[in-house]
Amino acid sequence: MPVDRQSLDRAVDTLAPELEALARALHANPETRFVEHESAKRIVALLERAGVAELREGIGGLSTAFEARAGDGARPCVALLAEYDALPEIGHACGHNLIAAGAVGAFLALARHAPELSGTVRLIGTPAEEGGGGKIILLKQGVFEGVDAALMYHPLDRDVLAHPALASSWVRLRFQGRPSHAAAAPWEGASALTACLETFRLIDSQRVHLRDGVRVHGIVTDGGKASNIIPEHAAADFSVRASTGKELERVLAMVERCARGAALACDVGVELEVVPGYRELHNNLTLARVFGAAMGALGRPARETDPRVGAGSTDMGDVSLVVPAIHPYLAICDEGAAFCHQHAFAGAAASDRGLETMRLAAKALARTVVELFERPSLLADAKHEHAASVGA
Ligand SMILES: [Zn+2]
Repeated sequence: MPVDRQSLDRAVDTLAPELEALARALHANPETRFVEHESAKRIVALLERAGVAELREGIGGLSTAFEARAGDGARPCVALLAEYDALPEIGHACGHNLIAAGAVGAFLALARHAPELSGTVRLIGTPAEEGGGGKIILLKQGVFEGVDAALMYHPLDRDVLAHPALASSWVRLRFQGRPSHAAAAPWEGASALTACLETFRLIDSQRVHLRDGVRVHGIVTDGGKASNIIPEHAAADFSVRASTGKELERVLAMVERCARGAALACDVGVELEVVPGYRELHNNLTLARVFGAAMGALGRPARETDPRVGAGSTDMGDVSLVVPAIHPYLAICDEGAAFCHQHAFAGAAASDRGLETMRLAAKALARTVVELFERPSLLADAKHEHAASVGA
């Protein structure tokens, strides 16, 4: 039986006080990657109060991951993903509190229509998006098996349905020099810090050769211990990003050459550790347009993308390589007023405007799920597109 779309919207409106309280509580008690214990508990408690029977905590070996299910238990199966980790120091400056509340709202609205659903909807709580790759761990643990499409939304300063996200890796550099008295016998030493700083300069010198969209940015994590000692140890962390895995490899090799060149010039040793980050996001346009049609029906038509906006990275990229996926962005503030990972954006994530967008996202996600259940050709198209996009 087709699900009445307006009745889904009304279910979200009825749930709104609880969803808003959840979003505000997560925001007021930010927890960083892998230690989102209270946040996960708060979400699970809301699901329990709402009478969700199929609920599992600690899935995929992650104590702060969880899953809930509703529907007929059969395929197709659409997953709604909830993020709820915050950033160090600046709290919910990525608005993941609104992602969680929106996904929960969509799931509970659908759960209220469970007897009418011709498919299964899974709400998956995915911890540690900020640098922890929680979704990658869940993928490896088989949590996404049997999922036909994965949907989430993310706050931004504008509405864009299918914006790119970059492939990423972290590079950790450790320089090993020779200490000596910095005034009395500097010629006896070899400065690990100088090699570290020269690495930054050499990388900057290579930017002229980077393709559009490549990002290389780093911080010094160890710059020595005392100004009167030639630094024996220095260390830096870099994040390297590109729009394709191939370009990422090329830039990683460039970063390595810069570090080794700096170490050679400074007569110090260097160790490199490359930590794989996230894969590039394959936005499924078939699914994104279904979500876009739902946005339009709700009175907020959205652009497909906006070349003026920069791209970050997300572990949703890794999910998008395995199942057709969307990661649309919805505005929680005026265009240009604030951007992710800024203090003002953390403010927007607890604002009335942010909460209004969260409710809208819940409605659009719920509508998208029923659309996919009721029009099987859409999922077939999405899967064809996915295979072509990831080269399967
Ligand atoms: Zn984020």
